Amino acid sequence: MKFKRVVIKVGSHVLTENNRAVSKKRMIDLVDLIAKLMERDIEVILVSSGAVSAGYTVLPLDRLTIGNKQVLASIGQPLLLKMYQEKFAKYNLLCSQILLSASDLDSKKRTHLAQVTINNLLKNRVVPIINENDVIATEELVFGDNDQLSASVADNFNAELLVILSDIDALYTKDPRKHSDAKIRKEVNHITDEELKDIPSPNSEFATGGIVTKLKAGKYLLDRGKKMFLATGFGLDDISSFLLNGVHKGGTLFKR
Ligand code: ADP
Repeated sequence: MKFKRVVIKVGSHVLTENNRAVSKKRMIDLVDLIAKLMERDIEVILVSSGAVSAGYTVLPLDRLTIGNKQVLASIGQPLLLKMYQEKFAKYNLLCSQILLSASDLDSKKRTHLAQVTINNLLKNRVVPIINENDVIATEELVFGDNDQLSASVADNFNAELLVILSDIDALYTKDPRKHSDAKIRKEVNHITDEELKDIPSPNSEFATGGIVTKLKAGKYLLDRGKKMFLATGFGLDDISSFLLNGVHKGGTLFKR
């Protein structure tokens, strides 16, 4: 499978170390992968969580209230982008910030304006880094952890594939943290309404989505003829193998 444009979404749990700071190592690995994809003329749009964690490193407010999370996201977003800029600079690449709320993409006019800007950024070999605009929208902070937003971004900005880098290495037949007999589902062609009803089960204080928001994102994309790949963000071997070598080792491919 050869892709021209992909969206990569990285969850807060992957970017956060010991429940506190942003993990430099994981960010470096991610930036390295993006640089390799760009060398092969694959355009990459990054959807990154992690602003709340970045904010928490300089102002340790209680993250349980939504108001505090918004404050931390607002403080952390520029810190997060600064970290990305420094890492991309090592590859002579520029990145940029785009703050969106899902409702921006409800409007044809605003979607079109964003499409033009994103196309122009990509034409200039700049990596657009999208996050939810937490000051006016709180879906990411309350539920979803950008899973929905990234699916909408992939669809509206003409990517063929959404990659979700998660704290889990694939979709399983049931929650592998609770059931030792859970089996990996390597490929998913159809998502039932039953599967979407499961209660979200996020895995850390920072994460908010759980597997259901990923399945919703998957269904949304399958319905639109797009693909999704769920892989671990704790080591990028599986996703590198899939994107760079076309070899599907670990991870789950959602495709019709
Ligand atoms: P993220 O890394 O994107 O923040 P979450 O922690 O929100 O991810 O969601 C992934 C978690 O969902 C996994 O760590 C796992 O414990 C849980 N989970 C529940 N059911 C499943 C399933 N069928 N397959 C994989 N993970 C599952």
